[in-house]
Amino acid sequence: MITFPRDIFDSEHDLIRQTARRFCEQEIAPHHDAWEKTGVVPRSAWLKAGELGLLCMGMPVEYGGGGFDFRASALLIEELMRIGASGPGFALHSDIVAPYLLHHGSEAIRRRWLPPMARGEVVAAIAMTEPGTGSDLRAISTRAIREGDEYIISGSKTFITNGQSADFVVVVARTADTTNQSGLSLIIVEADRPGFRRGRKLEKIGMKAQDTSELFFDDVRVPVSNLVGQEHHGLHHLMSELPQERLIIAIQAVSATRAILEHTVEFTRNRKIFGKTTFDFQNTRFVLARASAQLEVIQVFVDRCIALHVAGRLDATMAATAKMTATEMQNKLIDDCLQLHGGYGYMWEYPVARAWADARAQRIYGGANEVMTELIARQL
Ligand SMILES: Cc1cc2nc3c(=O)[nH]c(=O)nc-3n(C[C@H](O)[C@H](O)[C@H](O)COP(=O)(O)OP(=O)(O)OC[C@H]3O[C@@H](n4cnc5c(N)ncnc54)[C@H](O)[C@@H]3O)c2cc1C
Repeated sequence: MITFPRDIFDSEHDLIRQTARRFCEQEIAPHHDAWEKTGVVPRSAWLKAGELGLLCMGMPVEYGGGGFDFRASALLIEELMRIGASGPGFALHSDIVAPYLLHHGSEAIRRRWLPPMARGEVVAAIAMTEPGTGSDLRAISTRAIREGDEYIISGSKTFITNGQSADFVVVVARTADTTNQSGLSLIIVEADRPGFRRGRKLEKIGMKAQDTSELFFDDVRVPVSNLVGQEHHGLHHLMSELPQERLIIAIQAVSATRAILEHTVEFTRNRKIFGKTTFDFQNTRFVLARASAQLEVIQVFVDRCIALHVAGRLDATMAATAKMTATEMQNKLIDDCLQLHGGYGYMWEYPVARAWADARAQRIYGGANEVMTELIARQL
């Protein structure tokens, strides 16, 4: 397949990619099927990733991180999707939660959590979504009431990535009754606090090795020093980090689609019906050619977004554009690829079936694509 030159990476990145690829092929791919059955990625995989320096690559060296810019993280994200590994919640841990701690947490919070996160000894989660609200963060009802030097947290969260594995959760809770932008705060809850309870590991249609869970908080007491950022300014902090989260989803979309397109070219070249391969049908070649062309266009665009992000210039609208466009392409092209597999495409043992199921969540989380269109429309 053609690939446009990707000049956002340099020779240092080649080494990181090699390490990430070897790790994915040796430590993830052979076990992913089994993890889909247990519904969780074991701690040993986190520790191995940490040992190889693949976690928290974007965190400064002084906090145990790799000291790289976002491109290093992008490489691991791409390599995981290349092998269809939607189970490990590494990106959420390293590139979504860790930046909240680095950019908004106190020095004590950074020193306590970032080094063990980089080693894979501690797993992180972030809990925004509740049974009653997801897209509308202003409607969050989990409460954190201040009493002396403590917050008392009560409420419930759902759909939380790393929910069973997490050693701590950054909880988005209401600290003041207002309907405007303020009133929410980000507060760390350690998993061993009395009153913290993990609920069900949710049965999903895809991403089956990912321990997406319900979490409950029954009057959990945490010290006020667990506050990340400014009290009542949680929404503002969330907004400042969302472009990176959306860019991650766009990168996953492009890499997953590329992998499935390659699988499909190979499959159709080998599948013989009516005395020829399915690749020989003009329809198959045209579908794959169009898919390849669309993928290249989006890859170039997402690479441009990565470069802008590294330069500190990726804004909310650009990130929303990348997330929406890349995930819509992913869902459409992987569905087209599944069709070209015939019945085999519907069988779980084929990568295209898993990728098809995994892709569906991409249009929902990180802000539903309808919310992305709203964000883009506001700029028109
Ligand atoms: C696999 C998976 C992992 C997840 N991991 C996490 C996690 O780690 N932490 C976390 O906090 N959450 C997580 N989520 C939750 C995710 O962020 C929410 O599902 C998402 O924000 C949508 O919220 P909702 O499900 O409550 O849907 P709702 O908010 O009820 O929205 C339902 C639908 O309404 C429509 N809609 C919503 N808003 C608008 C609008 N403004 N304009 C037009 N239409 C609209 C869209 O079609 C949307 O899909 C995860 C979800 C999944 C599926």
